[in-house]
Amino acid sequence: MGRTVVVLGGGISGLAASYHLSRAPCPPKVVLVEASERLGGWIRSVRGPGGAIFELGPRGIRPAGALGARTLLLVSELGLDSEVLPVRGDHPAAKNRFLYVGGALHALPSGLRGLFRPSPPFSKPLFWAGLRELTAPRGKDPDETVHSFAQRRLGPEVASLAMDSLCRGVFAGNSRELSVRSCFPSLFQAEQTHRSVLLGLLRGAGQSPQPDSALISQARAERWSQWSLRGGLETLPQALNTHLTSRGVRILRGQPVCGLSLQADRRWKVSLGDSSLDADHVISAVPASVLGKLLPAEAAPLARALSAITAVSVAVVNLQYRGARLPVQGFGHLVPSSEDPGVLGIVYDSVAFPEQDGSPPGLRVTVMLGGSWLQTLEARGAVLSQELLQQQAQEAAATQLGLKEPPSHCLVHLHKNCIPQYTLGHWQKLEAATQFLASQRLPLTLAGASYEGVAVNDCIESGRQAAARVLGSEPNS
Ligand SMILES: Cc1cc2nc3c(=O)[nH]c(=O)nc-3n(C[C@H](O)[C@H](O)[C@H](O)COP(=O)(O)OP(=O)(O)OC[C@H]3O[C@@H](n4cnc5c(N)ncnc54)[C@H](O)[C@@H]3O)c2cc1C
Repeated sequence: MGRTVVVLGGGISGLAASYHLSRAPCPPKVVLVEASERLGGWIRSVRGPGGAIFELGPRGIRPAGALGARTLLLVSELGLDSEVLPVRGDHPAAKNRFLYVGGALHALPSGLRGLFRPSPPFSKPLFWAGLRELTAPRGKDPDETVHSFAQRRLGPEVASLAMDSLCRGVFAGNSRELSVRSCFPSLFQAEQTHRSVLLGLLRGAGQSPQPDSALISQARAERWSQWSLRGGLETLPQALNTHLTSRGVRILRGQPVCGLSLQADRRWKVSLGDSSLDADHVISAVPASVLGKLLPAEAAPLARALSAITAVSVAVVNLQYRGARLPVQGFGHLVPSSEDPGVLGIVYDSVAFPEQDGSPPGLRVTVMLGGSWLQTLEARGAVLSQELLQQQAQEAAATQLGLKEPPSHCLVHLHKNCIPQYTLGHWQKLEAATQFLASQRLPLTLAGASYEGVAVNDCIESGRQAAARVLGSEPNS
């Protein structure tokens, strides 16, 4: 009889792992176990009035680089090419990004010429930050916070305005706590290898081998900055579900895994409440802290390393306005923590993807709330009511974008612990986990947003790599 691989978690990472396992020439028996009734994890698209699409999680996927290309390949393999909504390079949502500082929106410079012009809120043209970067010595520490790295190489203004905002936009996190080595590995590596990030990025550009397809070529030719799918990004996990079912993958929904135990024959017993599954190998694509609680006592060192990978919450407030206009056209704006501790930024969904505005069309924006404001309230055990979050988001839309009329439609979701935080020393937690898995030869492989990248592309890649390791019969990751 063939091997059985049980995949824990039906988010995009677990779905991608199952997909790649199921396409092997001699596929193992694959069982995907998901706690909720829905697949897709944080990827969730909801239809509103007039068919408008509201993304409750990710809303755009970047096509750049080898990982971006691999995701596009997956999209084509699933037959979704005609559903893709691209944001082409010449579109305002590709060119314009803003910072909200000092009560005003400021366009971030785009293109080389922009670097030489005065660009408020920065006191000097960003060219000077670039010059500083080119001449700064290489850092000596094995890891550093994003803030310290940016301050050392680019100066205090870029660190406290641009990098602070970027960390809030991508990780909903604090640049003074997040690790540059783990959150922005290409910047860290560029400095290590070439002494300067700018030199490293220039020399390293376009060197990684990339897959090719008609869709990937189109994305390159049209310089897409991101893409979505006509019915929302949840179409991707839905298509994966259909594909997996057709390949004979058993998908169990509404079945939270409640424990893992290793049997005498070194096979896993995966406990599902009142039943269990036997597995030759387990791929875990649940959050690290969840896996930490599922592991048996003999894996306590691994459980400790995994439990130390924490995550933060984000409140996503989707707003739609009838007959309203934005003061600027672009992808959206970010808000540094010094400006507002609670509003991470606002995405102008209608600019990037007007096709999802519904009929009659209405302006869609999404306010992301989080940061120290939310953390403090959560720590105090405060009641985070829908009304409080909606009011906070509407106020931000009114103050920052002039959207003063009440929205015609509003969705409020508080996503608890939704974004893993790669804090200083994250790499050591990964190393401890990898070493334990290798030394114990545990038939367990880790995938998902908790480890090496939170973007959808990173998660899909983690699933692909986990499947490759299992198929290559390597004992673990
Ligand atoms: C608000 C928000 C906006 C984002 N925006 C973007 C964006 O624009 N672009 C981008 O690229 N990325 C974005 N991301 C990041 C990206 O969406 C996530 O990192 C990614 O979807 C995580 O996928 P995952 O499969 O690793 O984890 P998850 O989506 O967390 O999936 C894990 C799954 O495991 C299940 N599970 C948990 N416990 C158990 C258990 N005991 N037994 C069985 N199953 C269990 C869960 O129910 C879940 O389905 C965003 C994330 C959030 C939260």
